[in-house]
This record gives sequence, C-alpha cells and structure tokens, in this order.
Amino acid sequence: IMNKFDHAKFVLETLETHGFDAYFVGGSVRDFYMGREIHDVDVTTNARPDTIKDLFKKTIDVGIEHGTVIVLLDNEPIEVTTYRTETSYTDHRRPDSVSFTTSLLEDLSRRDFTMNAIAMDKNMNIVDPFDGHIAIKYKRIETVGIADERFNEDALRMLRAVRFISQLDFTLTKETENAIRKNISLIKHVSIERIVKELKKLYEGKNVNEAKKAFVNTNMYMQIPFFNSLSAAEIINTNAHSLKDEIIVQHIKDRTMAYKNVLKLSNKETRYINNSLRLLDEARGNLESKRIAYKYSDEILDNTLILLELNPILDESLIKRLKDAQNEKLKLPIKKRSELKINGRILMEKLNKRGGPWLQELLSKIEGEVIMGRLMNNEKDILEWVKYEQENYS
Ligand code: ATP
Ligand code: MG
Repeated sequence: IMNKFDHAKFVLETLETHGFDAYFVGGSVRDFYMGREIHDVDVTTNARPDTIKDLFKKTIDVGIEHGTVIVLLDNEPIEVTTYRTETSYTDHRRPDSVSFTTSLLEDLSRRDFTMNAIAMDKNMNIVDPFDGHIAIKYKRIETVGIADERFNEDALRMLRAVRFISQLDFTLTKETENAIRKNISLIKHVSIERIVKELKKLYEGKNVNEAKKAFVNTNMYMQIPFFNSLSAAEIINTNAHSLKDEIIVQHIKDRTMAYKNVLKLSNKETRYINNSLRLLDEARGNLESKRIAYKYSDEILDNTLILLELNPILDESLIKRLKDAQNEKLKLPIKKRSELKINGRILMEKLNKRGGPWLQELLSKIEGEVIMGRLMNNEKDILEWVKYEQENYS
C-alpha cells in the first residue's frame, strides 16, 4: 500500500516544478511524527489559489477566499492552502480578514498549537519554528504564541484543545489550561455545528476519560447547550453513545425553538414542528418503524428526515428507522382505525360485555396487532384472536 504522503508528494513536486514552495502541514505531519495513522494530508504553499487551480486537473473550491483549494488525485482529496495570516478577530471566531503571505513562518504562526504548526517537505525534512516535535515528545498541548491571546481570538481553539486530549492522549500545559479557564465564556460565540463536530471527535477519541475531566475541570461544559443541564458526575459517567442522541435531539430542539421565535411561525407550522419533535422522541424510544408509519403523515416523516440530515452529527440508526417507516407506509394493512374490520359494537355483542375502558384498550391492541402484521384484518380472525387472548391472559 502506498503511503499517503508518497501519494500526495506529486502535489508538492508539481508546485515546486513551477517555482513555488510547498509543504505538508497540520494534523497529518503531527500524526506521522507520532506514528499514528494519517487521515487527510494538508499542503501549504506560497502559490495563490488561482495558480493552484491552473496546475492541477481536478480541483474543488472549498474556501477560495480563505485560500483553500482541494486537489483531487485519483479521487483522493488533498487540501492545498495558500500561506496566510489572519488579522483582527472581533467576534472571537473567524478572523475579520485573511491575507496571503509569502512567508511560511507567518503561516505557521497563525496555527493553533505547536504540534500542528510543523511543516514537512517532500524529503521528510521538517520546519518546526515552535518546537512542535518537543511538544509531541512530551505530549503537551501548547499554543503557538500566548495562549490567552490565541483563545481570545478564536474560542474554537479551546474545544480543539480538549478534543486533542482525547484523540492524542496529550495533556494541557498549565498555561493552556489557565488560559482556557480565563476565556471559557467565549465558547458561546462558537456555532453549535462547530461545537458538535469537536464533541463528536472528543467522544470518539481513545482517551475520552481524561478529556471529559478537562471538559469538567475547566467548566467548559457549562458553556454548551444540553451539557449545561448535566452535572459534572453525569458527564463523567455518561458514554458517547447515549450522549450523541441527546445532543442531536437537544440541538434540533434548540434550533427549532429559535426558528419558531425568529420566523414567527403560524399555529399550523408550530404544530408541524411539535409533531416532528414528538416523532424524534418516539423514534429514539424504540417505537417500531411500522408504528411510526401508521402514526405519522408522510409530510411529518419527510420534514423530520430533513431536520436530521441537516444536522452535523448524523445519527444513522435514527435516519434508518425513519426511512424504514417511509417504506412501511406503502405496505400498511390499514391507514386508520376505522378501517379495522371490527368495532366496539361487535366486540360488546360477541363478548357479551358492556362498554367500558376495556373496549378502547382492546381496540387499540387489535389495531397494533394488525399494523404489525401479526393479525389479519378480517372479523373472523380478529374475533378468534380476541377469544384466544381472553382465555389465556385474563
Ligand atoms: P484532525 O486530525 O482532526 O484533522 P487537524 O489538526 O488536522 O486535526 P484540521 O481542522 O484538519 O485539524 O486543521 C488543519 C490545521 O489547520 C491544524 O493542524 C492547524 O494547524 C490549523 N487549524 C485548524 N483550526 C485552527 C484554528 N481554529 N486556529 C488556528 N489554526 C487552526
Ligand atoms: Mg486535518
């Protein structure tokens, strides 16, 4: 198997042939240095985005204003970014402007942590002005430059720091930790999508327990929707899987409520949204897809699927259950209770009993059996089933 860098080397060589400098950089270099498996290879270069697009056959614009172009090599995406600096952050998230630079050192200086600010050329020589390799050796998460300033500029970096504890089994230096504590309230400026992405990585990391401790010790969790409703002990004791569901639903609910207020929705629209939320709760509570199909309209199912798919964490099992429900809709033996080939009057007559709460209970049980395909929808079968039930279970 060809090493990912060997493969991506073509990008560096092409750029160099045309007189530019180009290096591997970021997570891939860090992971390579640590002997970890490499995922995406990022390249940094002094070539401008337009030039990058001209030099390679297949490219995709992802953030050309930020200087990033994806180069596709045999369908393998390689992110190529022009050296840049970021100036003045006023909203604690994205920089107000980025400007391209011809200095690799400047580009490395804008990066978050020293372990992520190492460049490597095509012969595997490193350029490491901030001693990232030492941080890696001692497993330290330290910022490039003054931690307090770097977190103040971009609050997302604090989440990244804690996520790296989990992924890399590193620890925060004292300076990093103190600066996180000091700037923690700025997390509110980070979009929920970004937060959820980082949390997902945090929960998937192998050192999740240490990361959860930092998450609690720095009071980071108090800044994040849903988590702020949990106690520290609950966060420590809850596992990724159950949390993932909670985050998705909480997130959808938060967003939905925000839309409701902002969009000034009508009663009908609000009812739709509430139905979607109820459907989500029921689907998570293991309501079978056949029953979902019976209970919820096509429209609600479609809308809820859209809500789920818009979400940064896709919960595949939830989506599958709703898609199954969409398919089941076509095969349902009945669409509503009145289509049952039995009713209260017949039941009272055949069982020789007077009306009462038992009747509704029995009808809904029959309805359930028919929907689930365990009972044929005709009077004879239904009455036989009822008699059998009554003899064996009452
Ligand atoms: P992963 O292994 O999850 O991909 P990564 O370190 O590669 O981790 P990316 O989000 O892919 O993270 O970013 C690539 C590089 O861009 C980082 O290594 C870092 O140098 C820089 N970077 C990313 N986000 C920030 C940020 N918020 N502030 C400063 N530099 C950043
Ligand atoms: Mg990366």
